[in-house]
Amino acid sequence: MVAPAPDSPAPETVALPAATPARTETTAGNYFVANYPPFAAWKADQVPELFTALNQPPRPNVPLGLYVHIPFCRKRCHFCYFRVYTDKNAEDIRGYIDTILQELSRYAARPVIGGRHPRFIYFGGGTPSYLSPDQLKFLSDGMKALLPWDEATEITFEAEPGTLTDHKLRAIREMGVTRLSLGIEHFDDHILEINGRAHRSKEIARAYAYARDIGFPQINIDLIAGMVEETEEKWQEAVAKAVALQPDSVTIYQMEVPYNTTIYQRMKDEGRLVAPVADWETKRRWVDYAFSKFEEAGYTVTSTTTVVRDPNRVRFEYRAGLFSGADLLSVGVASFGHLSGVHYQNHHDFHPYLDAVKAGQFPVYRALRPDPAELYTREFMLQLKLGCVSIDAFTQKFGIDPRVQFAGPLAILREQGHLVEQDGQIGLNRPALLQVDRLLQNFFDPKYRSGRYA
Ligand code: SF4
Repeated sequence: MVAPAPDSPAPETVALPAATPARTETTAGNYFVANYPPFAAWKADQVPELFTALNQPPRPNVPLGLYVHIPFCRKRCHFCYFRVYTDKNAEDIRGYIDTILQELSRYAARPVIGGRHPRFIYFGGGTPSYLSPDQLKFLSDGMKALLPWDEATEITFEAEPGTLTDHKLRAIREMGVTRLSLGIEHFDDHILEINGRAHRSKEIARAYAYARDIGFPQINIDLIAGMVEETEEKWQEAVAKAVALQPDSVTIYQMEVPYNTTIYQRMKDEGRLVAPVADWETKRRWVDYAFSKFEEAGYTVTSTTTVVRDPNRVRFEYRAGLFSGADLLSVGVASFGHLSGVHYQNHHDFHPYLDAVKAGQFPVYRALRPDPAELYTREFMLQLKLGCVSIDAFTQKFGIDPRVQFAGPLAILREQGHLVEQDGQIGLNRPALLQVDRLLQNFFDPKYRSGRYA
């Protein structure tokens, strides 16, 4: 399932992100900054850079993570911009799993792995929980035989509540999943229906209770602020219900309407420029409201989208790895990864992906080797999405003080009253954190800025 998110790679279109407007209605586009340089800068002619990296030993002390993309869903949500398939049968799915295992075996044999076992694993989609218990066992057993999971401290699995039975949840736990991420999005049946979600509130209650009984070490729930027909009252009710569940963490997205969504198609048909969802200022206020309610309940805000019940116990290893330069070996259609300093993305479509793997190739269609300045910017921006950056740690890692490297952008944020500079850290205050994707444009190299709202 789940919402457009940093936890969920594989956008279907990869337009340059536009700066989220400071105070305007929601118009079409992708605003969320999930990587840098932007996906549109990744090119087919850079794919040989990946092959070079695959044939060299890994960089010293760089952990390995593993991402597996499962592109199947029960139905397509109206706000979804991921590459998902709702028409595949059991035979197609079995063929897809075989292909993922073949793809993984090809990477596992390359010097870049260097004997490493994954430290974190992420099953994203699509809907990983669309797979049956038998399919999940076949997939996970095959993966473990290729790259053992004995060093993995976190295994995340995205799930759509309506696909979960007690039996399937047990199978997911038995695979070794430690972090179950439930794509709840909202608790109101009308809002779920009008936004095209497949599940309803009864299925949320049932799946959550099963998951707690089974004893997953971490349960995350996803919410979206500003879905179609959201109201002040319904959002407050949704937040109250989410607080009452006492999840280990909550991820809250602000609704965007990318171009390849059903909502945008309708806007186009009706000749509308403004999406039928709340404006940006309202969405920020709703997320702020949710953050405050969770803080009252003892939670801590740990990123621009996340609250955590016990930050000492719950560490999101996947995000921490991704945001600090870990290798991410990604398999599956449209998935994207990062190996030894090279970004790469697989073919977008099902059959080109399958055909490439069957032909004995790596199914990669574009890549980019960022230069050192781009890697520096990437890591600084992603860390800033967590709220703050340690000046010493960053300077030690890269040899350049971010106050020097980003003197210009930091001066702008300081002047706008967004910056918090204390205890050796550069951070953003709450209002800035809620519009971080817009503010991060200040750090982009000018050639990557879209300028649409800048
Ligand atoms: S269709 Fe819905 S459940 Fe499936 S990936 Fe898209 S947003 Fe998630």
